[in-house]
Amino acid sequence: MAPPESTLPQSFVADAAQWHRSGGEEPLLNLIRSPYSGVGHDVGAAYATLARRTGALLDAIDGGRLALPLAERDEVLRFARRARRIRAIPHDVEEEGLHSLIAEIFELPKIAARAFHAHERSAAGGQIELAQAPPPEPRAGVEGWQRHFSASALNAYAECARKWFYRYACAAVEDPGSAAAAYGTALHLALEDFHADYPRPSARDDAAMRRRIRECVTWAFERNRDGFETAVEFELQVRRAQRTAQRYVDWLLVQETEAPFEVLGREVAADLDLEGRAFVGFIDRLDRDERSGGIGVVDYKTGSIAMSAAEYCDKVRRFRDFQLPFYYWARTAAGDRVTKLVLIPLRDALLDVRPIVLDVAERAPERSRNGKSVRGSIGLEELQRSRTRMIELSDRLSSGDVGAFEVATDPAACAFCNYATACARRPPPEGRRFGS
Ligand code: SF4
Repeated sequence: MAPPESTLPQSFVADAAQWHRSGGEEPLLNLIRSPYSGVGHDVGAAYATLARRTGALLDAIDGGRLALPLAERDEVLRFARRARRIRAIPHDVEEEGLHSLIAEIFELPKIAARAFHAHERSAAGGQIELAQAPPPEPRAGVEGWQRHFSASALNAYAECARKWFYRYACAAVEDPGSAAAAYGTALHLALEDFHADYPRPSARDDAAMRRRIRECVTWAFERNRDGFETAVEFELQVRRAQRTAQRYVDWLLVQETEAPFEVLGREVAADLDLEGRAFVGFIDRLDRDERSGGIGVVDYKTGSIAMSAAEYCDKVRRFRDFQLPFYYWARTAAGDRVTKLVLIPLRDALLDVRPIVLDVAERAPERSRNGKSVRGSIGLEELQRSRTRMIELSDRLSSGDVGAFEVATDPAACAFCNYATACARRPPPEGRRFGS
């Protein structure tokens, strides 16, 4: 007997039905991020993030936009085939028939059968069969992580090992996304489009650039409208982004005289093999300095970031941030002469854009280790230490020997943590502070 519809994963089926009806990207992105998609959590989330920027998940999969090991690539391709089969179901099929077809295409009955048969047993006369408790399993570490790594995964681990465990080892909770995340996605997308038209910003194009970036922001936010809960929030965030984008153009125009550059790439795939461990990511922008020919790696930041070059270097030194070191090594391995690492803050529409710029030096001078300047240097040995640490952490996480993932010591890490409800041992919040 087939499992009744009530035992099917309802939200997955609802998203699949909506995808069938509308062909919209949003239900499709929900599908690939679901545990029922047949695609690993990490890969599904990576493709969903990519597709939010490009707007076409199936095209991204067809184009193999993410470099994946063979098994994971096959999973993603199978997902795309299944999604297309759902769309091809005739539109006059009854709702119940549609749900059965969805279940069949995604092989949901196999998944649901366990729940159904458990339900059947408990329903049989209401009798409970007593059984001997199985012997406890011997204690063992959490199964080793055998997929690719990313700098953001290691950043999560550095912030709180327990958070890494919940997000990556358990895939415990689907991140529902937030307006802040949608803002970031849309603004990244707008800048990606903008620099396709303006790889060499110039004062000659001042008015045209301002017009174009306004269009890019409008269009990018329209494509991400679903990420905002209310129309008011959407409007407020669009206005914030438009103001920030104009400040960004102000900064580009200053750069033309101070340090002219050409944009060589946007959303550049960063693949790196670190002693047998695959690392993947995307670099927001790659620049070539027109005077020195050196390559600059640029990361846009729409959340909070370090306030000075010294503060960011300190995070790298304490192994709290691996993003720019990872990009450095990925592009160096690709043959670039990387001379500059840049973080561009795009969070506050009321402030001028003042990027954190780190020149790569043989040895960072002492004076760049302190102070409030946004310009500084990072030493090669610091980048090398960061690389060594990435290898150590990836070895550790893939070893299968980790028995306990410690909670954060800093309660600030818990403020926006999706897993706070489940995390019984999280540090207590800091006491309220009263001004005198
Ligand atoms: S609530 Fe805090 S301690 Fe627990 S997983 Fe989240 S960040 Fe870590």
